[in-house]
Formats: sequence, C-alpha cells, structure tokens
Amino acid sequence: MRKTIIAGNWKMYKTIKEAIELTTGLKREFFKLDFAKVDVVVCPVFTALSEVSEVLNETGIGLGAQNVYWKEEGAFTGEVSPAMLKDAGCQYVIIGHSERRQFFGETNESVNNKIKAALKVELTPIICVGENLSQRESNNTFKVIEDQIKNSLADISPEDMLKTVIAYEPVWAIGTGKTATPAQAQEVHAYIRGLLKALFGAEVSSSLRIQYGGSVKPENITELMNQPDVDGALVGGASLKVDSFSAIVTKASEVKK
Ligand code: PEP
Repeated sequence: MRKTIIAGNWKMYKTIKEAIELTTGLKREFFKLDFAKVDVVVCPVFTALSEVSEVLNETGIGLGAQNVYWKEEGAFTGEVSPAMLKDAGCQYVIIGHSERRQFFGETNESVNNKIKAALKVELTPIICVGENLSQRESNNTFKVIEDQIKNSLADISPEDMLKTVIAYEPVWAIGTGKTATPAQAQEVHAYIRGLLKALFGAEVSSSLRIQYGGSVKPENITELMNQPDVDGALVGGASLKVDSFSAIVTKASEVKK
C-alpha cells in the first residue's frame, strides 16, 4: 500500500509574513487530520523556510524547498546546498520542476546531480517529469517521459529510489486550468511504473509514490486519486489558500485505495 502524499508548491509567492499566516491556517485545519493516511508537505520560497519550519514544529506537516544545488558549499553565488535546506528544517525538496527546466536551463543531468546530493543528506526528492503540449500533440509523451526518467535517475540505486517521490506534471496542465483527464494521468503513471520496474525492479515499481500535478483543485482531486497509479498530488495555485489546499488534502485522504 502506498501512502497518499499531497505537496503544495508555493512557487515565488508569499512574503515571510504571508507564509506564516498560510501555515498557521493550515495547522489549524489539519489539527485533526489523520496523518497515518496522508503525508502533507508545504514548499515555500527559500526565505520563508526557517520561519515556516518553526510554525510547523510537531504538527506532522512536512517542509520542502523548491530547488537545491548539488555542491556542499563553496563559491556558488545564489545557490543553496542540501545540508542548508536540512538546517532550515526541510525534509523534502522539489527537483526538476518544469518551470526550472523551462526558465532556468535545468537538464536531466543537473536533476540527476541534485537528486543524488539530496539523498546524501536524507532529503526526500520530489522528482518532476512531464511533457509539453507539442510533445503530447506529436505523440511523443512516452518518449519524453522515458528520456527524463532514464537520464534523471541514472546511477541511482533501487534502495535510494525507494526514498524518492516522482511527480508527473504535464507542462500543458501547469497553471493553465487544464487538468489531464484521470485516464490521461493514469496512462502515464502506469507507464512510469512500468519503466521503474524495468530499471529498478518490482519493489521500487510497486512502492514508489507517483504524484500527479497540473491544475489540481478540490473539484478534481477525488477522481484523480481514484486512479490506481495516482498516489497523490503536487499542487501549485490551489496550495496558496488554506481553504483549497485543505479541501484537496481532506478529499485525497478520504479516497480508499
Ligand atoms: C506546480 O506548480 O507544480 C503545479 C502543478 O501548479 P498548478 O497546480 O498551479 O498547475
């Protein structure tokens, strides 16, 4: 059985004060949540991580960053190391989000370096993959996913893979209001699970959690979660408000798998 995992990617939104307000609101909403059924993670901007970590203290809600660099320390202006994220209170880090691939030149190779560095300090990587619209329209979705999975996960052991989460995020569905249909999501999730089996074996394939991301909202989470290979969601826009994020988490935790 794979435990549901819902993560909120706050992107480049929220000042420290606003992040504390949102976290305080979520803490109130999740006071009675059964964390045995669902892992909940919030991923604020770097500047708010420490303060959000203090608010989250012992609530059961996890903390993640949105990016990381693979070096331990050094002359790398503007970058943040895995150990620094741990120091700020993180347990998770999003790696290879399509916005980073698209706007900041992230490649499968840099994603691979980042995953390995995160695993070294026991940060759980949430590894993002997904095709863009022209790749989908030219029937290249599986090819793109295969390429991303094979190269981003190169030289990672099955034991380490068990400590990761994958997020399938079709780029055309991120921030656009267009969600993949549950059948489209399931088709790619099942494909990823098949690839994981071929690359890392049956245990990784059956245990690793695969989140769906792309315009997830309270209105569509239940049908997405009803798909056998959808184990949770990476939520952008709808994670910025207490009401919508808590509704998504509650509905996801109610789906019987
Ligand atoms: C995301 O940022 O990973 C995301 C899926 O965004 P949205 O939910 O806004 O589409």
